[in-house]
Amino acid sequence: MNKEEGEKLPIYKEMERRNNDTFEKSCQRCKEEDEDWIHIWNCKKNNPSIYELIDEVIEIQIKEMEAEN
Ligand SMILES: [Zn+2]
Repeated sequence: MNKEEGEKLPIYKEMERRNNDTFEKSCQRCKEEDEDWIHIWNCKKNNPSIYELIDEVIEIQIKEMEAEN
């Protein structure tokens, strides 16, 4: 190993480590954005049935609210 390689290597290792961190943090469906609670609902690779489920829940809640009034 010459001097130049010796200086470069830790940087590559650091880059690799950061890439792995990014991969683990990123959304497992689209792998484009960090996966957080907001993204879980906003992910464009989301299964459409999740939206249908949300619609259903909202509808039930509206009906329950209307029934209470
Ligand atoms: Zn996503």
